[in-house]
Amino acid sequence: MTAARACRLYNIHMTTAYTLVISPQHEYLDHPERPGRLDELIPKLDSFQAEKLEALPAKPEEIARVHVPRLISGLERVCHEQAPGIIDYAPTFVTQTSFEDAMLAAGATLACTRAVIAGEAQNAFAIVRPPGHHAEPNKAMGFCLFNNIAIAARDALAQGLERVLVVDYDAHHGNGTQAAFLDDERLAYLSTHQWGIYPGTGWIDDAPRARNRIVNVPLPPFAGNQAFAQITEMIIKPTVEAFRPQMILVSAGFDSHWSDPITALGLSSAGFFQVSKRLVELAAEHCGGKIVFVLEGGYDPANVANGAGAVFAALAGTRAEFDAGDPCPRGEPEVESRLDEVRRWHGF
Ligand SMILES: [Zn+2]
Repeated sequence: MTAARACRLYNIHMTTAYTLVISPQHEYLDHPERPGRLDELIPKLDSFQAEKLEALPAKPEEIARVHVPRLISGLERVCHEQAPGIIDYAPTFVTQTSFEDAMLAAGATLACTRAVIAGEAQNAFAIVRPPGHHAEPNKAMGFCLFNNIAIAARDALAQGLERVLVVDYDAHHGNGTQAAFLDDERLAYLSTHQWGIYPGTGWIDDAPRARNRIVNVPLPPFAGNQAFAQITEMIIKPTVEAFRPQMILVSAGFDSHWSDPITALGLSSAGFFQVSKRLVELAAEHCGGKIVFVLEGGYDPANVANGAGAVFAALAGTRAEFDAGDPCPRGEPEVESRLDEVRRWHGF
């Protein structure tokens, strides 16, 4: 084999990329969505064999692919003229830098998806805050200002892709992503979430006119790793096969960890690895490997570091199991009847 042939086979640029937006001034009193969430992850980033991409702020017209102009200009004005303060009951806060922080978080997510679409990276992880999946087209809410992943999904369409799937394993339902995608048949959304907590949306029949495309899997507390193993085969796989996405984006919320201080969905780091690995495999089978993870919630710094470690291991194609030694001490409830209900609703 010639050297030139070898170069074509082994493209040294095909690797995992990541972006990091800490937003150190976007913090408010003892609010759990704080820069310290990333404190245990940041020292480990160099060990993940991923390449850091620099990110530029998103442009207002890129944000406007999801959000109404009135929200964009309103947030800018509130941050610059009235912050710091609370803007909704979640509570969602803003500081004087929050508008620029949110623009950079969205831009860093775009940098990841664009690098993957352009073939400059095989896959990527946007480690950004403020998070995004609760932000609706006309409303910032739930600790989220702009919906980073929805903005990236619309940008992927603008780059020429025809179908993009967002899978959301944050403990909360991503009402903002669902609202943004509801009437756009090029975009699909699948969310697993703890039922009965904020924001109250995400029941199975939330989106009757988008069966097969808006897929909600509401779960009991401590559903756990075994439930997620069943969900990947019984619900995520058939959704991918039915929708045939060209790229998968993942709202990676590590508040699904059993010891999260706000929620209780029962996953451990081994569970984050298993579900992330299956998503990477599904992207390899159906999307030419194009997958980008985007940080959402997760309010314990150790869980965020271990969860991100699990994601990077999955992105690297690690064959070994990833386990940070944090098994859930609780028993897992039976979820099969709920999963059957979801499958029946969508006709899987
Ligand atoms: Zn969450």
